[in-house]
Amino acid sequence: MSSENSSADDVQRVWDVVVVGAGPAGASAAYAAAVAGRSVLLLEKAELPRYKTCGGGIIGPSRDSLPPGFELPLRDRAHAVTFSHNGRFNRTRRSKQMLFGLINRAEFDQQLVEHAQKAGAELRTGVTVQRVEQHGSAVPDRRTVAVFLQGGETVLARAVVGADGSASRIAAHVGVKPAQVDLGLEAEIPVPQTVAEDWQGRVLIDWGPMPGSYGWVFPKGDTLTVGVISARGEGAATKRYLEGFIGRLGLAGFEPSISSGHLTRCRADDSPLSRGRVLVCGDAAGLLEPWTREGISFALRSGRLAGEWAVRIAEAHDAVDTRRQALNYAFAIKAGLGIEMSVGSSLLAVFERRPGLFHAALTGFRPAWNAFRDITRGSTSLAEIVRVHPMAQRALTALDRRPVGPVGGEATEVSS
Ligand SMILES: Cc1cc2nc3c(=O)[nH]c(=O)nc-3n(C[C@H](O)[C@H](O)[C@H](O)COP(=O)(O)OP(=O)(O)OC[C@H]3O[C@@H](n4cnc5c(N)ncnc54)[C@H](O)[C@@H]3O)c2cc1C
Repeated sequence: MSSENSSADDVQRVWDVVVVGAGPAGASAAYAAAVAGRSVLLLEKAELPRYKTCGGGIIGPSRDSLPPGFELPLRDRAHAVTFSHNGRFNRTRRSKQMLFGLINRAEFDQQLVEHAQKAGAELRTGVTVQRVEQHGSAVPDRRTVAVFLQGGETVLARAVVGADGSASRIAAHVGVKPAQVDLGLEAEIPVPQTVAEDWQGRVLIDWGPMPGSYGWVFPKGDTLTVGVISARGEGAATKRYLEGFIGRLGLAGFEPSISSGHLTRCRADDSPLSRGRVLVCGDAAGLLEPWTREGISFALRSGRLAGEWAVRIAEAHDAVDTRRQALNYAFAIKAGLGIEMSVGSSLLAVFERRPGLFHAALTGFRPAWNAFRDITRGSTSLAEIVRVHPMAQRALTALDRRPVGPVGGEATEVSS
């Protein structure tokens, strides 16, 4: 316990930065603010380690965004990908080098939190944040934010980072607007050793029957994470897709240890990233790759930036300086992750109409496979490929027939 509101006579402690949510975004924000020497309180509603519905695929940009000295708790390393199109046309592509790593989120997230703690952040678990206030009787002055916890306690901060996931309460305060909402369903399936050996080092990606949907098998030693994702609003069809997918793979006879679902939300282009002294990052901000719905690297990268800018906001003495720092944070996000999201949403628009084209390209056209390999390994990004290869940009623009601005431009809208 660190907040000092034990008696009415005490002057209540004001933290430099309070971070809400201890997933990859929150742990990264807390780490970044703590290594800058600021007092940081990290609030998490669950007890750690906690389960999170997630494939646990760690691509190159995620590996590159980890704190120094962080050792990935890898359960497997993907060197091969089997692609299928709604269960048919299976084709496996292999790579000598690791394409991406596979982790168990409970372990990975806990380890990230421990790094933040080692850097000096204080952690409180089992604490649900209900809301924040920047004005009113609970707020002693204009430089302070009041964070209300379930149970009646209030903590004070100079800056708050909302990293409380896709159902974020802090996002509601900031006014985050989603442009794309998807439902992911997953089963953790313990399997016998012979089945586990068959999957070792190989993932499966299946282009699904509903527009924009796909499924995956991610092996993690004695357990396979099998999941599907599709646009929200088709819950029954998404469930049928997962059941059929599991059945076709011959895995229906094994009882899942966990079956769960989770929404993902991608932000609209004009969605805010801050309000006053409150910033949002990761899923709370709707920062997620729209095509693959890869979000760990977005959470790690935006979390670090949010932590760095929260430090500057904590030091801001007036509303003008606070606004300037918040705008700088938004600029940093939009210049990097925003452009990646813009390209990703164009790709999704094409994929929704032409999944067969993607399957044919990835399995039969070497440059497409090379691009996939290089993106997952982190030696390039989709945005970089489109920027460097005018042909790729022209192809994407021609195939993406939505009424949008140039690829990567601020005006691009995301289809929902
Ligand atoms: C089915 C599925 C599969 C996915 N697979 C992958 C994948 O393979 N690779 C990948 O990169 N991404 C994947 N993602 C996306 C990825 O899981 C998320 O983008 C990532 O977890 C975002 O991290 P975060 O820290 O922003 O949020 P979260 O990981 O959701 O963390 C938020 C934290 O905030 C806490 N919290 C929530 N509300 C409160 C509150 N009021 N008070 C205090 N604490 C609170 C939660 O308990 C949680 O610990 C997948 C998503 C889904 C749905």
